[in-house]
Amino acid sequence: MLAPLRDVRARPLRDLRISVIDRCNFRCTYCMPRETFDCKAKFLSRRDLLRDAEIIRLVEAFTDLGVSKIRLTGGEPLLRPGLAGLIEHLAGMSGVEDLALITNGVLLPQMAQDLASAGLGRITISLDSLDESVFASITGYRGTVGRVLEGIEAAEQAGFTRLKINTVVQRGVNDHTIMGLVKHFRGSGHIVRLIEFMDVGNSNKWSLDRVVPGAKWLKRIHDRWPLRPLASQYPGETARRYSFEDGAGEIGLINSITQPFCGQCSRARVTADGMFYTCLFSGQGTSLRPFLTNTCEPQALTELICRSWSEREDRYSQNRGRTGKTELKVEMYRMGG
Ligand code: SAM
Ligand code: SF4
Ligand code: SF4
Repeated sequence: MLAPLRDVRARPLRDLRISVIDRCNFRCTYCMPRETFDCKAKFLSRRDLLRDAEIIRLVEAFTDLGVSKIRLTGGEPLLRPGLAGLIEHLAGMSGVEDLALITNGVLLPQMAQDLASAGLGRITISLDSLDESVFASITGYRGTVGRVLEGIEAAEQAGFTRLKINTVVQRGVNDHTIMGLVKHFRGSGHIVRLIEFMDVGNSNKWSLDRVVPGAKWLKRIHDRWPLRPLASQYPGETARRYSFEDGAGEIGLINSITQPFCGQCSRARVTADGMFYTCLFSGQGTSLRPFLTNTCEPQALTELICRSWSEREDRYSQNRGRTGKTELKVEMYRMGG
């Protein structure tokens, strides 16, 4: 097997997250707050999006370099026209061992079956609260809990199992509804992952006061339903995993603020127009698009990726607040979460 490409801190390149579109049908306050993005936002036009053939070339290059996990994201990936066709291509590629998608779930009722037939391996669904009014205010009054639950049901019916349910926790916003959400999914076979609210982008008015440390959830949940730690499944796993001692399944804590995992970070990201970033908090990226044409030698693309990754020093979360740097970051809906 090919030795993985390593950065200056010896971190291998293992995962690739591809944003397939920057548009979204929600306006989550922590990602695309509607005050900013309803009037001023400029989204990519359809012709600016990488075409399927370009994404396939991109994935060929990354898999040649040892990447085997691909996650499709956005924006809202289910808004990309022809998504199932793209997935069918990617699922058939020899180097792609794990093909996953993250979605807000509202379009799953009409799409889950096609995604399953196309060969998608796994789905993560974001759901921050089961309380309709809390959920509506977080999503900028664009989403309903009922619709996301229908999406979860559609995914189950299409044969997806062990769904990950991503929940961003904000103090004073949805933290009072978290225990109810954990209770709801206990015993369902799905895995709730509580994520600390992050300072991604420049528009979400992040403050440390709004972060509830994952360690607090661990104690609260353990006090009610005893938990046992689970070993990580692979190097660089972002979630700390726990199983319920009574056999009701598993939960994960993604403590990106209080327990950063930069030391193990093996993820690269490419935006819907082909910008390559080596950190979720980057301000500067590299355009791969000129290297994705069929007239360009594949080697030029792999060399560029190798150069960018081998020069990578990123550890934003580990240094949070210590560097005094205030570089503008790329917004999460563009970068791809
Ligand atoms: N639209 C899809 C969705 O919401 O699942 C995919 C893209 S979204 C950017 C990917 C993930 O990033 C979601 O689980 C979302 O909750 C998470 N996310 C966005 N902004 C965040 C923030 N400020 N802190 C923590 N997680 C965030
Ligand atoms: Fe859209 Fe996902 Fe961002 Fe919410 S988190 S605004 S659903 S891209
Ligand atoms: Fe990886 Fe950057 Fe997040 Fe650190 S801050 S874990 S380097 S994406």
